Amino acid sequence: MLIDTHCHLDFPEFNPDRDEVIKRAQANGIAYIINIGSSLSSSKNSCALAEKYDFIYAAVGIHPHEADGFDDAMRKEIEILAKCGKVVAIGEIGLDYYKNYSKAENQRQLFESLLDLAKDNDSPVVIHSREAAEDTLSILKNKKINKVVVHCFSGNEDFLKDCLDLGYFISFTCNITYKKAQNLRDLVKLAPLERIFLETDAPYLSPEGLRGRRNELINVKFVAEEISRIKGISFDEVARVTTEAAKNFFNLR
Ligand SMILES: [Zn+2]
Repeated sequence: MLIDTHCHLDFPEFNPDRDEVIKRAQANGIAYIINIGSSLSSSKNSCALAEKYDFIYAAVGIHPHEADGFDDAMRKEIEILAKCGKVVAIGEIGLDYYKNYSKAENQRQLFESLLDLAKDNDSPVVIHSREAAEDTLSILKNKKINKVVVHCFSGNEDFLKDCLDLGYFISFTCNITYKKAQNLRDLVKLAPLERIFLETDAPYLSPEGLRGRRNELINVKFVAEEISRIKGISFDEVARVTTEAAKNFFNLR
């Protein structure tokens, strides 16, 4: 039994066969799915999916890419959505200084605003951070946010160590299977298993051998397999420990 802690089933890539993808996931031992909001409309759709399926939970948030369009009205709507029964986290939120689709200053403002919401609701946060380790950490520390998972971890060893010292969780995607991703596999080795979550980030980041195709939730097993190989432990142990940690973190029942 595995948990896909981060996917985007609401994205148009799944329009042709969303229900089948979800059924396939359930039939293949995926016990829970957390669908992540990346914009206001995506957060709404994330909540709708969670209402429709027992084993799907939602996070609501606005991706840093969308920061230039963020305003008070949006903040209000996210605040209302965050009260939906099956919302288990605020996310994805954070900073992306790699693509810089929105101004850095606007990204920081959005990030801080939604961290305040997480704080008010005592919600965990799902963080997207790219080329922005320093600002991500200083804002999280300033806001005294403790329940944190850094998704699709792609930082360096120092960032990983800082995150672990602060009690954050680290989530890895299928990109740890890429031939050139030895740096990520070294990070997997350093992170204790009980602080790791599994995710697909589907429809993105298909595993090695399936690259270029739409990623699917069932592929979360490749993340577990790779971690078991890297750490020299059984697949079952990876499944058991990461599932337990994610269930506790997101308070899944
Ligand atoms: Zn994502």
